[in-house]
Parts: sequence; C-alpha cells; structure tokens
Amino acid sequence: MQFIEATYVGNFIDKQMLFDVFDEVNRYFTENNIDVRLVYIGPLKLAPGYLVSIKTSNGTLRAYPLEALIETLYSRLLQDIKELIEQREGDDTGIIMNKILALTTFPLISRNPYFDFYEKFLGYHETITNLRIMILSTEPFYSEDIENFKMRLFKGVLHEIGHSFGLEHCSGECVMNPPGTIEEWDLRPPTYCDRCFLELKRNAEYDPGLKF
Ligand SMILES: [Zn+2]
Ligand SMILES: [Zn+2]
Repeated sequence: MQFIEATYVGNFIDKQMLFDVFDEVNRYFTENNIDVRLVYIGPLKLAPGYLVSIKTSNGTLRAYPLEALIETLYSRLLQDIKELIEQREGDDTGIIMNKILALTTFPLISRNPYFDFYEKFLGYHETITNLRIMILSTEPFYSEDIENFKMRLFKGVLHEIGHSFGLEHCSGECVMNPPGTIEEWDLRPPTYCDRCFLELKRNAEYDPGLKF
C-alpha cells in the first residue's frame, strides 16, 4: 500500500469540507482497487514570518511563497519517513511512502517569473530526492455551492496524485485534462480516462517508492 501524507495550510473555515474531500479520494481508490491512500497528518504549521503581502491590480493579496511551503512539506515528510524507519524494527511492513499533498487557502506565489498562478487552476508539484511534494490552492476552485467546491477540489487532488505517479496531461474525458477556465473544469468527469487509469494503477503497483 502506498500512503500519501495529506495536510493543509492556512485558515480553513470549514475543515470538515477538507476531510470530506480526502475521504472521497480514499473512497475512489478503494472502490477502484488502487492501492493508494491519503493519510491525514494534521495541519501544517508555517512560521508566521513566511506570510507575505503582494500588491496586484486586484488589490493586496496575502500568500505564502511557494518555496517556503515546499521546504516545510519536504522536512515534514522526511521526518515522518525517519520515524517509520525507526519503528519498523527490521520487518518489511509493506508500506510505501514518498509523497505529501497540501491544500492551502492562500494563492500560490513564487519568485519564479514563469509561474503564473492566475492562469494555473491546478496545483504545483516537485520532486526532491525521490520525495514528491504536491500543493493545491483551494482558491481558484472556490464556489458558494459547497458540493460544487468539494467536487472541484476532489478532481484537483486526483489530478495532482496522477502527476505524482508519472501521468502527463491528457486530452480525453479525464481529470488529467487541464482546464482553461473553471467552467471547463466543471465539465471534466470525476475520474481518470481508461488509459490514464491503467497507467496510474500500474505505476502505483510498481513504483518502488520508499518501502518500509
Ligand atoms: Zn497538471
Ligand atoms: Zn486521461
């Protein structure tokens, strides 16, 4: 079984909504016989100094620099992996864990000028020494209709997890098909197309990851 650590950063007013999304993702993987599960590890604490204000044509935005978020997520995952190694006492537990996913209420910003967060509905992912870091800002997915909001996020999480197992973008009826607008995202089915599904299943089974 592959475990993906799941956490959040920022001030979620409705935390139950997040847990519902994580539960939905786990239900999806269980029902489709994919050996991947999200494991909620509690909120991620970032030093308050990291939060910055940036001026845009739409007013002032508060955000965490992407680099600070990635660093904090990487350290947390590394620390938890070390604990897993200490606890297993030599036995192979069958657990694979090398991924962490964070949802954040803040828009993602970066010093990288090529990273245009206004045009990116979907998240950010990076691999550092075999460890996979995924970040999804909930902001572009917001809807006053809570069920719609959850559905958009659910698909966003599936999209990021797809990337984390080596899936590229797809042009089919599929969560791996990136939207140009949020309306387009609403039209995507809440699942992978057959081709992406099979690739995900194969990679989730054979990804050597980090075994404990
Ligand atoms: Zn993508
Ligand atoms: Zn696809």
